[in-house]
Amino acid sequence: MSRKDYMCQESFDNRNSKIGLHVFKHLIYQSVFVLFVAILLFSEAEAAPENAVLTDVSLKSMQAVANSQAPAHLPVYRIKLRVHVANSRRSPQEFVSILSEINTIWQTQAGICFEIQIVNHDTTLADGLDMWFSPDIGGYNGYYDGEHIQMSDAPVLAHAANPARSSAARTAAHELGHALDLRHRQDSDENLMRSRTYGWQLNAYETLHARETAAEIAMKDTFPLNCGPPKIKLEEGFK
Ligand SMILES: [Zn+2]
Repeated sequence: MSRKDYMCQESFDNRNSKIGLHVFKHLIYQSVFVLFVAILLFSEAEAAPENAVLTDVSLKSMQAVANSQAPAHLPVYRIKLRVHVANSRRSPQEFVSILSEINTIWQTQAGICFEIQIVNHDTTLADGLDMWFSPDIGGYNGYYDGEHIQMSDAPVLAHAANPARSSAARTAAHELGHALDLRHRQDSDENLMRSRTYGWQLNAYETLHARETAAEIAMKDTFPLNCGPPKIKLEEGFK
């Protein structure tokens, strides 16, 4: 339907200028316009539920879902991540808020949730990923050695237009990307897989490929849709 279809044509056709006919035509055009708007709204409502969690819900609850950290992909793959902080200069409590951003990055974009445990010992997980924080790791921000992740306490990153909050969370999320078999993608500062920026975004390929890897190492329970907050589990007398 073109815009012209619902324009008032008075100026184009003076022969139809009797008031009654004009009002009648005006009503017709208005109705067509309202119908047009209704079709537009309806198509939006139709398009949104491609995401399985949005099926059969009212517009109001769709909005609520959109405002929450609803996962972009289902099922949610849950991966255990043990964060070792015995050598860090940051407190375990500080890590709770820093590390929760890892899930803001990964869960919302890829439906991958890291069940994070903050510990003050070096015992590794048998079924998950391990990450250590230290004041200095030889000048690196962080790296993945093919098995474990080493992190600097305070990575130094370059600007991104839409930045992550914490450089430690961003770098940890980037290294987890490597652990999920992603390579660097240097074409934009906004990319999570760009080296040394505050970017956090994944593209469709990265999302898909990381999910394939995640499926292999994830916990079997994929029912819960949300990640729990990072948990502190300290052993007494270690520090
Ligand atoms: Zn890297």
